[in-house]
Amino acid sequence: MVKTGLYAEIIVDLAVRKTDHVFHYAVPQEFEDVLQIGSRVLVPFRERQLAGYVVGFGLPESQVHIREIAGILDEEPVFSLELLELARWMSESYLCSTAEALQRIISPRLQVKSGREVRRIIPALAGEELEQIVASMSRAPRQAAVLRAAMASPGLSVKELAATAETTSKTVKLLVDKGYLAAVKKTASQDTSGYDGPQFAAGYGALQLNADQTTALEQIEAALKNGKFNTFLLHGVTGSGKTEVYLRAIAAALQEGRQAVALVPEIALTPQMIELFQARFGSLVAVLHSGLAGTARYQAWRRVKSGEAPVVLGTRSAVFAPMPRPGLFIIDEEHESTYKQDDHLRYHAREVALKRAQQSGSVVILGSATPSLESYLRAGKGGLYHLLELPARIGNHPLPPVQVVDMREEIRRGNRGIFSLSLIEAISRRLERHEQVILFLNRRGYANFVVCRECGLVLKCPSCDISLTYHLDGRLRCHYCNYSITLPTLCPKCSSKNIRHFGVGTQKVEEEARRLFPQAKILRMDSDTTSRRGSHERIINSFRDGHTDILIGTQMIAKGLDLPKVTLVGVINADTTLHMPDFRAAERTFQLLTQVAGRAGRGSLAGEVQVQTYTPEHYSIIAAAAHDYESFYRSEAPVRRALGYPPFNHLARLLLTYADEEILTKGALLAKELLEKIVTSCNHPIEVLGPAPAPLSRIKGQFRWQLVLKGPHRNTLKDVLKESLIILDKERPAFKPSVHVDINPQGMS
Ligand SMILES: [Zn+2]
Ligand SMILES: [Zn+2]
Repeated sequence: MVKTGLYAEIIVDLAVRKTDHVFHYAVPQEFEDVLQIGSRVLVPFRERQLAGYVVGFGLPESQVHIREIAGILDEEPVFSLELLELARWMSESYLCSTAEALQRIISPRLQVKSGREVRRIIPALAGEELEQIVASMSRAPRQAAVLRAAMASPGLSVKELAATAETTSKTVKLLVDKGYLAAVKKTASQDTSGYDGPQFAAGYGALQLNADQTTALEQIEAALKNGKFNTFLLHGVTGSGKTEVYLRAIAAALQEGRQAVALVPEIALTPQMIELFQARFGSLVAVLHSGLAGTARYQAWRRVKSGEAPVVLGTRSAVFAPMPRPGLFIIDEEHESTYKQDDHLRYHAREVALKRAQQSGSVVILGSATPSLESYLRAGKGGLYHLLELPARIGNHPLPPVQVVDMREEIRRGNRGIFSLSLIEAISRRLERHEQVILFLNRRGYANFVVCRECGLVLKCPSCDISLTYHLDGRLRCHYCNYSITLPTLCPKCSSKNIRHFGVGTQKVEEEARRLFPQAKILRMDSDTTSRRGSHERIINSFRDGHTDILIGTQMIAKGLDLPKVTLVGVINADTTLHMPDFRAAERTFQLLTQVAGRAGRGSLAGEVQVQTYTPEHYSIIAAAAHDYESFYRSEAPVRRALGYPPFNHLARLLLTYADEEILTKGALLAKELLEKIVTSCNHPIEVLGPAPAPLSRIKGQFRWQLVLKGPHRNTLKDVLKESLIILDKERPAFKPSVHVDINPQGMS
């Protein structure tokens, strides 16, 4: 049968999506006017009907076996041409299929059953009026929270709104009865563009800018007016007012008729942050993050797509926000590793934002007090980014003095406890003055290094310069190249017997603090104490309201919190980060210490920081204590360059997992052999290290081994990996392990 007319190119959503195959389908006449690129359709595929995405139109090579599209799944396209281009780029860059990339981009849309009728709640009064009502509700915080949520996300159902405001449906209904909110009947697939809420007034609620902020903003505004792709690195010390620059830049983008997205790390998306955006932009803000329930997320997505919410605040996945005319991408704390998705499709939100900005002629602002080496290198002389500096804190609050406490001295003085005498004294002073203390201990799970408590020596791999990790077989092992030695009984540097492996948990710190300061009110915040919903906020509120004297926690407390009564921050042990088996260990240490130190002295009271360590001479600790990013960069960059690590080289990891370790190691050796063969045959300067057990060598019964590849070009590295994956796939079922590829991973646990 020969057909004339329109043919659509369709990527079928197959369960196995390693590669893309575009199929042609005939477009029935009744769909001709509605079908577009980005439409999701139902197509016959073998004996089944499957979903597919229209990615283009064109004539098939042959008209044999061409079948017809069976139906259109949505009223309008689920992605734009811009996002399709992005998906194709992701498929190339992250070694996934276009269908997988599209899934990632549009996922919230697909989780929703459309057409169900529900009552949707919208504000019944103008924005300013409602804000006054909210301000007068100090005795009814739940009602105020509901009103704020309704202003931020108009169109939620009663249940969703109650959940968002962490209260009951009864509170929502009460506000409807009072006439502050209105309930309208809409089907879930309709948008809420009829809603005419508070409009944004330029400059409303804005803070006075200092000279550095003004200079930075002027350059950003000029770039926004220019309407071309441009990237700024906003390097500002903690408390220097980066957020105010973001908010003004967003206002400028809106005035150009463009939309803006601001990404924050998961942990920084606090109610404080959301309130700040809502106070400035009212109902123009949509909040997007993975914690949003299906329909609420879908509603936010719709408001963004229709242009009704031109300001997007969210975490990593919000980088895919379907803005019709993006103009500004902001990435706050751009150095954070949480911007990298670390399973399935391993994309980096910073890279995706830069790509989207390039496609759409947008401006990118990367903000940080401690920029990643990658970004800082690019912002150097002749680099791709423009560097904007905010060197002073707002209101000229001084950065707190940081005292480095040498724990080797404590051992010499006979103090074998977790707390140095100096830290104990400083805490006691705070308790007497009724000021607050934060005690910080970084994340658990990396306590497997061996340190000499007399001289601070940590054993490292001679060729990779990463700390060796202690294994149960009594050996110390390099996780990159598998170099290993037996655990020495005497320190090779000072011959002390006091060399052993090391680790303290937050619980131990809490016990010790309770013993030393029995009169103090102490709370602990880590993944154990915050697993229940809302417990994170409860702990923070108790601390903020002054019901707690000492807060002990992991990196959860290092970021974003503005706690004016904290005058002492104690870092229990800087070494656990410094000796992570990772080439970024020094960078992470510097970042973490800077963040933690930034928590002290934010109010009118002067702050102080104490950092305990066995390695006080390390440049990352010295530079963090001096609040000196430049000097850190100058020390770290040559080390990275010499060892061939990013940002001067590219690195990839091939992680292999399997339930049987012997089969796994055999498979890992086979993969190594194969990679070396490919590298030799195409004559690329790529180094293949390992195989070695991963730092977390077994998870849920699966053993984990890794190969590490280093090379000067990302593209050749990617090509080699791509080829190896194809060949390894052909070796199955003889080749058994699962293979996971990560190019430029943020961590290799
Ligand atoms: Zn020693
Ligand atoms: Zn090594």
